[in-house]
Amino acid sequence: MANYYNPDTIIYSNGKLVKAAECTIDLYSQTLHYGLGVFEGIRSYRLQDGSTGIFKAEAHYNRLEASARALHMPYIWSSHELTAATYSVLQANNLQDAYIRPLVYGPANMSFNFNTESNLAIMAWPMQPFLGDKLLRVFTSSVQRPNPKGFNMRVKACGHYVNSIMASYEAKQHGYDEALLLDLEGNVSEAPGANVFIEKNGQLITPPAGNILPGITRATVLELCATLHIPVQERHFTLAEMKTADSAFFCGTAAEIIGIQSIDAYSFPTPWPEAKGHQLQQAYQQCIRQAS
Ligand code: PMP
Repeated sequence: MANYYNPDTIIYSNGKLVKAAECTIDLYSQTLHYGLGVFEGIRSYRLQDGSTGIFKAEAHYNRLEASARALHMPYIWSSHELTAATYSVLQANNLQDAYIRPLVYGPANMSFNFNTESNLAIMAWPMQPFLGDKLLRVFTSSVQRPNPKGFNMRVKACGHYVNSIMASYEAKQHGYDEALLLDLEGNVSEAPGANVFIEKNGQLITPPAGNILPGITRATVLELCATLHIPVQERHFTLAEMKTADSAFFCGTAAEIIGIQSIDAYSFPTPWPEAKGHQLQQAYQQCIRQAS
């Protein structure tokens, strides 16, 4: 198991900075049993001026609040206050390049009733910036993304990640690096923890919001495309269409922008250094380290 914390690690728990090792959660928490909880994945970076910057903190905390409200979880925090709390967690642990995990979870409740209060914890652990030019070998999963009429896929809910873990596990069992999931109509949706873009004839295509978690990195990529004059379309595409694309990449807070070498037996023909994704990867690296 990875080392997420040690005896000195400090986390933010319900308004206080406390030792991770001394924190407990209630075994009867509704979140633990039924998956009704929400979380975020955020990165902080050492910026070019040597200071620490949390990338798109407000956007992540706004999404945390929207996720909690969509699941009728009481939510009493402001994005502003949680951003400040996150900086204090980073400082208490001497972290600059880190992964930050806020989690909103319910109290003891074995019924299916909604709760009148929620708990909030913010954890952080070191994460080195991605440096290499590693490309992924991707496997089309037999695990489908859930029907959005059953699960609101815009919500970053704990329970949705059972689906992600099953898909990722299956891909690794088959000797691949990561999975690609299709939606209920057979269109390409996303990776277990990242969004997908394909490039065809100089244009990028990404699935629209609806059957995916519309990522904050995806939004940043769309902004960068506008700046770099890269044409991009949000529309559905099939796996067959993906297998005629010139290049492809995944993007997400943890993955940043990472090129895809192949999907199943199909290898993308454009060498990664010549792909639009590579240009965006470099622009993204600039963006995350820029002092505001
Ligand atoms: N899709 C899923 C299923 C995810 O878990 C993530 C990671 N949060 C993403 C897409 C990418 O979202 P973001 O860019 O906001 O990290």
